[in-house]
Amino acid sequence: MFLSVSQLGVRYPGATTSAVDGVTLGLKAGDIGVLIGPSGCGKTTLLRAVAGLERVSAGDIVIARETVSNAHTHVPAEQRRIGMVFQDYALFPHLDIGRNVGFGLHHLPPRQRSERVAEVLALVGLDGTESRYAHELSGGQQQRVALARALAPQPRLLLLDEPFSNLDVDLRERLAHEVRGILKAAGATALLVTHDQLEAFAVGDMIGVMRQGHLHQWDDAYALYHRPATRFVAEFIGHGVFAPAHIRMEPTGATVHTPLGALQDVGGCPLPSAYPDGQCDVLLRADDIVHDDSSPVKAQIVRKAFRGSEFLYTLRLATGETVLTHVPSHHDHAMGEWIGIRAEVDHVVTFAREAATDHPVRSV
Ligand code: ADP
Repeated sequence: MFLSVSQLGVRYPGATTSAVDGVTLGLKAGDIGVLIGPSGCGKTTLLRAVAGLERVSAGDIVIARETVSNAHTHVPAEQRRIGMVFQDYALFPHLDIGRNVGFGLHHLPPRQRSERVAEVLALVGLDGTESRYAHELSGGQQQRVALARALAPQPRLLLLDEPFSNLDVDLRERLAHEVRGILKAAGATALLVTHDQLEAFAVGDMIGVMRQGHLHQWDDAYALYHRPATRFVAEFIGHGVFAPAHIRMEPTGATVHTPLGALQDVGGCPLPSAYPDGQCDVLLRADDIVHDDSSPVKAQIVRKAFRGSEFLYTLRLATGETVLTHVPSHHDHAMGEWIGIRAEVDHVVTFAREAATDHPVRSV
């Protein structure tokens, strides 16, 4: 791994709990990692610890086989060869774009410096803007200049802290895709912090979901969505609900009985013995529930949210459970109407019945 964070703890002076607690993750060279989670979960603290802006109280941070942080070692931020991009762009208003981007290149002779500036401006799609000023550019362009400035000195690692949060929602996702393209073209290894799922999915090769200082899961987007390691990850990522279920071993194999009928072929699911009496909760995502008029299972529409090409329906079953489903928007059913549904679950994910727990019941 190019970046390795092991059992990391960061505790602010005077705090009773650690802002980052026992976090372990690894990033390969050229990969983009994203940290996501609710406000205050420790994402920024973790990023700042990697940058060398916070000292660590436990564990270690290794970059390219060099231990830069542990309880006894603290390589100063300016010696880590890390580039940073912040949400507020932080461009110098009195310097033109060329000087802003060349700011970290004073060690180079002027000609090489201007060549490198031109090169990284071209990389972010802003060639020829050297003599312009930040206020003449849009927010998205300014953020690309900030990215060019961070990439110019060829840092070993790039850290981005909520880089899109000052931009319009429409622009955010587009810029997130563009930034991924730019980082890949530059061959950069990067770690980005966001609270926005769409951004995380648009940018990250690996995504980490944090809560209260702990990293619940570090995985690719597909695994986070289909194989959430904890109830918190299951609830935080995507639309879904938990319904009471019962796993039994039957002659045909393990079967999960849900309010929507029996689910079989549940390869990745824990065995019935994982839960007392096989009683558990099953995760039902909106895209696991299919509208089917011929299905014997009926559910009543209690809420409808128009999403353009589809509706997100909230449905109540006769047994009282609530489920969600996406339905193409030309199926415009009325509130209160009963429609047929069936479960089409590729990955059956179950958790212990209790209230939310931090202890994962792995479904792999
Ligand atoms: P996030 O980036 O996920 O919103 P932070 O890393 O900023 O979370 O914060 C994690 C926890 O550490 C929070 O409880 C926050 O109040 C606390 N914290 C953050 N910065 C400081 C600081 N400089 N001094 C003391 N506590 C801090």
